[in-house]
Amino acid sequence: MHELAIAENIVDAVCERADGRPVRRVTVRIGKLTAVVPRAMLFCFDLATEGTVAEGARLEIEERAGEARCRTCGAEVVLADPILLCPCGSADLAVTAGRELQIVSMEVG
Ligand SMILES: [Zn+2]
Repeated sequence: MHELAIAENIVDAVCERADGRPVRRVTVRIGKLTAVVPRAMLFCFDLATEGTVAEGARLEIEERAGEARCRTCGAEVVLADPILLCPCGSADLAVTAGRELQIVSMEVG
């Protein structure tokens, strides 16, 4: 379950920036191609925040669909999961979106 390691990284970064103030809410953007499961992420976030200034904070997840361009046929492909395959059968895709894993905002106070 790599969500726990990711959640710990997010919580570390958030707590550092919060600088001792309580954290109310954290919004993260997660691309579908990261294979991060939002429900697992919420669970791990609660675990990772225990005993920190972010304990009890609400995690909001913005999911970002995967998008890629096929180098073989030129099609723009929307990817619902981390399997990089064009309907034409080619796996030679240039990913343009969906690998995001970032903190978008946080609310302290
Ligand atoms: Zn193609």
